[in-house]
Amino acid sequence: MSNYKMGDYDVVVIGAGHAGCEAGLAAARMGKKTLVLSINLEAVAMMACNPSIGGSGKGHLVREIDALGGEMGIIIDKTFIQSKMLNTAKGPAVHSLRAQADKERYHQEMKRTLEKQENLDLKQGEAVEILTEENVVKGVLLKTGAVYGAKSVILATGTFLAGKIFIGDRNYQSGPNGLAPSVELAENLRKLGFGMRRFKTGTPARALGKSLDYDKMTEQLGDSEIVPFSFMNETLEKEQSSCWLTYTNEETHRVIRENFGRSALFGGQIEGIGPRYCPSIEDKINRFPDRERHQLFIEPEGLSTDEMYIQGMSTSLPEDVQEQFYKTIPGLEHLKIVRPAYAIEYDCIDPLELKLNLEHRKVSNLFCAGQFNGSSGYEEAAAQGIMAGINAVLKLDGKEPFILDRSEAYIGVLIDDLITKGTNEPYRIMTSRAEYRLALRQDNADLRLTEKAYEVGLVSEERYAKYKQVNKEAEEEIKRLKETTVSPSEANPFLEKLGSSPVDGKISLAELMKRPEVTYDLLKEIDSGRENVHLISAHARKRVEVEIKYAGYIDKQRQQIEKFRRLEGRRLPENLDYSSLDGLRIEARQKLDAIRPESIGQASRISGVSPADINVLLIHLEKMRRAKA
Ligand SMILES: Cc1cc2nc3c(=O)[nH]c(=O)nc-3n(C[C@H](O)[C@H](O)[C@H](O)COP(=O)(O)OP(=O)(O)OC[C@H]3O[C@@H](n4cnc5c(N)ncnc54)[C@H](O)[C@@H]3O)c2cc1C
Repeated sequence: MSNYKMGDYDVVVIGAGHAGCEAGLAAARMGKKTLVLSINLEAVAMMACNPSIGGSGKGHLVREIDALGGEMGIIIDKTFIQSKMLNTAKGPAVHSLRAQADKERYHQEMKRTLEKQENLDLKQGEAVEILTEENVVKGVLLKTGAVYGAKSVILATGTFLAGKIFIGDRNYQSGPNGLAPSVELAENLRKLGFGMRRFKTGTPARALGKSLDYDKMTEQLGDSEIVPFSFMNETLEKEQSSCWLTYTNEETHRVIRENFGRSALFGGQIEGIGPRYCPSIEDKINRFPDRERHQLFIEPEGLSTDEMYIQGMSTSLPEDVQEQFYKTIPGLEHLKIVRPAYAIEYDCIDPLELKLNLEHRKVSNLFCAGQFNGSSGYEEAAAQGIMAGINAVLKLDGKEPFILDRSEAYIGVLIDDLITKGTNEPYRIMTSRAEYRLALRQDNADLRLTEKAYEVGLVSEERYAKYKQVNKEAEEEIKRLKETTVSPSEANPFLEKLGSSPVDGKISLAELMKRPEVTYDLLKEIDSGRENVHLISAHARKRVEVEIKYAGYIDKQRQQIEKFRRLEGRRLPENLDYSSLDGLRIEARQKLDAIRPESIGQASRISGVSPADINVLLIHLEKMRRAKA
């Protein structure tokens, strides 16, 4: 059996999931000849689990991917069927956009985008081997014997790598949704010396919509005013689908408890570690035995199907038990299951083996992204994908890596957590993981990231011009509101109507806006200058509102960030011999040598590295500086 050469590429992306699509598009848009492979083209941007994009923390990632010139935000704005801004009762730092997607259309739109993209070839093919020479990537071998030369390879294999499905006491090799798994590549990566681990995740059954009784559930509607994910979209109008809320009950719990022994999870078949924040229903009932009921949402999978996703009810119990316990739930008494629930176990790497630019330490020009790195979620995958794509190109061009730190982006928090702290379970992003979340809001992702992505050549001129315009509008309007004052006679009738205390002297509109009762929209009543200002964009309005209302908190956070950046700016030499540094504890030496942090800041976040160890490093850096001086 001889292999045969089929072509040469700058970048070959193994995987066309949420990570692979963003990685491939980024590399092609930055001018690299790119090949994106998928075992099956039906898996292009496949939503193997929940039919939604966004949510707490995840919505922030989507906005950041969009601000960097990525595709996820644009595709979901085209294919959403319901949209909601979550956490609006709380502060703007945790406002999170979430949209229900038409899964089939999402897949089609993303596939079409890849097909249309210049410099990019999309191909159905299974990679079985990464070809290397002296630990440098040289190409990829496919199952068919075809060989593609590559200067850089991006691994984004998701839940397919050595995929194994579990339903009750049955298990078999498979990728999600009955697609073929990727077994040979997993073996090849072990031979390359990668530290592979087994993680698992699960998905609920899909039910036939017409077999459900919606009168027994509570309808959940989308927002009347739809906020787009993409900064390229000003407004979105669309008739929205509904979701439905119902609850489990004691009978549901009894059926599940009586069958714990038949669950692959409790039966001990599954060795993989599952996501703490997306537990299966049997896990929830086991962990919270006193909880009388668990909520679940019935979510449409799309407009061209009657399949309904039963959110919150993933399980690896056998099909007969699934049917039995689902039918105890109000509205599901007569459900027809069209796809049974299952758990999937898959291989992924230990992200501590990666550098902050997502390159593998053991193989040069090999980058890794998505579920393969130990994360879970479409948004987390796409965020790593775009960063891997950008960095693969910059490495080929001999340019500085593109790293976002924890004060610049949720993407920075995500990657730093994975690379520096590691993870022992599928990692999902949450707003609580970000120290500087008031600075990392959804509404200012473009301000934080678009300029940077423009400099590395990923952002289009059209997007850059739009960003500049929004920025100019927001800055000018904030300045105008600060400089425009109103007299008590103008302000007080307005304030009285809002139940806000009167003023006794001239006051700026910005000062008034700091009051909880006063909003930018309401203020137009006494803002005579408003008609002279052409209507600024929705994105700019949101930024004006938040920047003025939370100015004090934002300034305080800026000071915290400056302190963080001082430590982050203290670079550590890549080849520092930690074993030679007296005063460092053994555990710290081992951890520092394994993770090779790039800065004092990163070193301080490694578990097992104490403040005393950090002092030793700071003293050593000072000695080096003086020696050089
Ligand atoms: C059953 C199930 C339940 C899930 N539950 C949740 C959940 O509850 N919450 C959550 O946030 N996320 C969940 N997810 C995870 C979510 O689907 C993933 O996080 C997301 O799809 C990861 O994106 P990715 O790009 O890393 O990988 P994927 O979307 O899995 O895409 C991988 C791609 O790699 C390709 N590929 C793999 N091996 C090869 C090869 N050797 N050669 C060529 N192509 C290859 C595949 O064809 C596919 O295109 C679940 C996934 C599954 C399958």
